[in-house]
Amino acid sequence: MAITEMDELASLIELREDEKAWDSSGESTLPLLISDDMVSLLPIEAIRKQFVPSQKENEDTIGSLDPQEEKEHQGTERLVHRYRNRAAFFTTDRCFAYCRHCFRRRFTGHLSGPANEKEIKEAAKYIKEHNEIREVLLTGGDIFTLSDEKIDSMLSIFKTSCPNVIFRLCTRSVAVYPERITENLIRIIKKHMYGAPFFLMTQFNHPAELTEKAVHAVSLFIDSGIPAYNQSVLLKGVNDDEKTLIELSDNLLMARIKPYYLFQGDPVRGTAHLRVSIERGLEIEKNIRKELSGLGMPQYTADLPQGGGKVILTHTYYKGSVNDNGKERYIFETPDGEMRYYPE
Ligand SMILES: *Cc1c(COP(=O)(O)O)cnc(C)c1O
Ligand code: SF4
Repeated sequence: MAITEMDELASLIELREDEKAWDSSGESTLPLLISDDMVSLLPIEAIRKQFVPSQKENEDTIGSLDPQEEKEHQGTERLVHRYRNRAAFFTTDRCFAYCRHCFRRRFTGHLSGPANEKEIKEAAKYIKEHNEIREVLLTGGDIFTLSDEKIDSMLSIFKTSCPNVIFRLCTRSVAVYPERITENLIRIIKKHMYGAPFFLMTQFNHPAELTEKAVHAVSLFIDSGIPAYNQSVLLKGVNDDEKTLIELSDNLLMARIKPYYLFQGDPVRGTAHLRVSIERGLEIEKNIRKELSGLGMPQYTADLPQGGGKVILTHTYYKGSVNDNGKERYIFETPDGEMRYYPE
C-alpha cells in the first residue's frame, strides 16, 4: 500500500532530522503520499528528495502560494485561460504520489476532489465559445486518478462540445503508478480520438523513474497514436547536473518520448530548498545543448510571476552586430566559445 504517514515511512527508511521535523499542518503543506513504485525507489536520493517531505518546506517563507496568479486568469471554476489559444482544465486535485516540488500546491491534494459534471460542462461551454482555444491541457492533480467511467464521461463531454480541440493528457501516473495505464483505459481514450489528436504529457525528472513498467505504460499511448512529450523540473539534488539530464534525455528518446520542457522551479512557498539558481540553470542548458541532439534537447523555461507567462531561458549565441567598412555583420559566439561573423 502507498505510504501516507511518517511513521510508516520511518519503518522503511531511516529518516533524517529535517524529514522527521516536517510539520504537516502548515498552510502551504502538501499531503504525504508516496506510491509503491516510488517507495521501492526511495533508496535513490533523487527519488527521496522528490517525495519525502522535509521541514525545509515549512521554513520557506519567500515563495508565493500562487506565483503564476492562475486565479486571475480563471475562465471557469476549473479552467485557467492565460494564453490566447490554449487553456488548462483541473480535472482533480489528486495524484498517486505528491511531489514535494509541486508548483500547484495551493490546489493539489487539498480535497477539492474531481471536477463534477457541472464544472466540466461549464468548461466545455467556455472552450466552445472561445474558438481561439486550440489546445486544452487536462491537468490537475493527475487525470488518471479518476476512474475509467469518470474519464470516459469527461472526455465525452469535452469531445462532443469541441471535437476539433487538441487535448493534452497531463500525467505523472506513468512514472509513479504505471499499472494505472490499463488496456481498458487506453480503449476509452481511443474511443474519443476523432477530430483532433491527443498528446500525452509526462513528468520524468530522473532516469531512475524510467523503469521498464513506466516505459511500457507510455508505449501503450504511443502505440495507440498518442505522441508523448516530457516536462521535467530542474531540481536541486535530483537532476541539477549535466550527466543526469543527458542520461534522462537519452532514456526518454529511447522510450519514444520527446523532451519538451525543463522547467525552472517556480517560486512556490515550500519549495525553495529544491530550486536551482537561474544562473546555474543557464550554464546547464548551455552544456547539455552541446551533448544533445535537437530531438533530445528540452527547452529550459521559466513561468514568470504575476501571470507573466512562460519564457524560454537560453544562452544567447547572438552577440550583436558591427559595421565593417559600411557592411553590417552579425557577431555570434559558437557553442565552443569562439567568435564568428555572419554577413547580413
Ligand atoms: C504551461 C501552460 C499552458 C501550455 O503552454 P505550452 O507552452 O503550450 O506548453 C497552457 N496554459 C497554462 C495555464 C499553462 O500554465
Ligand atoms: S504529479 Fe504534478 S500535480 Fe501531482 S504533486 Fe506532482 S507536480 Fe503536483
